[in-house]
Amino acid sequence: MQSDNSRFGLRGFLIDAPEFGALRGRPNGALIIQNGRIAEVGDYDDLRRLHPPNSIQWINRGTVAIFPGLIDCHTHLPQYSVVARGESELLPWLRQHIFPIEREFTGPRAREEAPQFFHELARNGTTTVMAYAAIYEDSCDIGFEAARRSGVRTILGKMMMDLASYGQIQPKKILSVSLVESERLCRKWHKAENGLLEYAFSPRFAVTCSEKLMRGAGELAARFGAYIQTHLAENREELEKVHHLHMTARDYTDVYEKCGLLTPRTVLGHCIHLNPREIATIAAARSGVAHCPSSNLFLGSGLMKLDQLLKAGINVGLGSDVAAGPELNMWRVMRAAIEVQKARMAYEPNLRPLRPSEALYLATRGGACVLGKSAAIGTFHAGKEADLIVMDIASMLPYPQNRNWTPSLTAEDVIALCIYRGGPDANLETYVRGRRIYQAPNLQNLP
Ligand SMILES: [Zn+2]
Repeated sequence: MQSDNSRFGLRGFLIDAPEFGALRGRPNGALIIQNGRIAEVGDYDDLRRLHPPNSIQWINRGTVAIFPGLIDCHTHLPQYSVVARGESELLPWLRQHIFPIEREFTGPRAREEAPQFFHELARNGTTTVMAYAAIYEDSCDIGFEAARRSGVRTILGKMMMDLASYGQIQPKKILSVSLVESERLCRKWHKAENGLLEYAFSPRFAVTCSEKLMRGAGELAARFGAYIQTHLAENREELEKVHHLHMTARDYTDVYEKCGLLTPRTVLGHCIHLNPREIATIAAARSGVAHCPSSNLFLGSGLMKLDQLLKAGINVGLGSDVAAGPELNMWRVMRAAIEVQKARMAYEPNLRPLRPSEALYLATRGGACVLGKSAAIGTFHAGKEADLIVMDIASMLPYPQNRNWTPSLTAEDVIALCIYRGGPDANLETYVRGRRIYQAPNLQNLP
């Protein structure tokens, strides 16, 4: 593994998306990484000339594209073992498939699965993740420990629910236990590991949380400067339930607003069925949205009105939402994001498609903006932290032996190849803060 303070260079096709709709590609590019940060960005030949041959260790993996590390703004650690299971919509799916598996995610089971989960994230090129643990304190503790060992930048929180929960705790005690344990975890892990680990207070959603619990979560998050994550307006039946549980609220978003959950450190999962007032409220609160298109398709939840949220100025990132989303591969999530907008176009003729480079923006800088980390990660600028992935372009071609075609590919072509044909098999290396946290096992056999 590279150590944090080593100085090295990486050569490849540098591709990043500094703005929504903007794309930068440098076909024979290079990055110089020093002390975990990007020290220089430029053309390989120039940087090679500028620095004496022995002053830098160059890593040259051949026909590769180098992207900022992928950011998964919404997923569930305990649920990965039951991906691709079930055919029902959200609420029956939670009862039939998810609560039973989350109920088991404690002790030996959590200790066995958590390290594998974070390894899978690194293998898939995810360098930053925001995730929910199960309701147990140890599930979150074990999750953080696995995250620390993996090197993946992680925001995690203990699932909070005090209505219709799956735990064994007496109903009267759930509220206080949930708040006390969440606070203890936050004290232990928030900003640990030089800030690579952070805490998110995590009320599941308004169907399984009392107002007292949500208020308590909001107050704790404010006190510690921690994140808040929850689900909002994912599914029609869920909306009905929330309406009956919170009759005095103007709408679903109002429930969270009244409880102090809408902050600039809040990430709202889904946001499919919002009215214009709710969109304006989220924008005014500067809360971020985690769009989870593969999950929305799997559970038939609906099609995200992405253009409306972006137009309102809301920061939007992407989430795998495992296990409603069938995989951790963020390239597939980008593909689903594009397909969701294409599906909408059949009914809304004035819409335009989401371009591959725009999907890449959502999965990199867009996610960084959602998490308040755009100054640190998400693009290739000198001074930023070196979170990046190295993708093998030739392995994604229909005929990999035709690697001599690769020089003619544009940046947009390469992104589209990754989105439609890429994934962990094409990911050669994953770096967080300049430290290599994953390397493909067959790398030594490559030319
Ligand atoms: Zn979720």
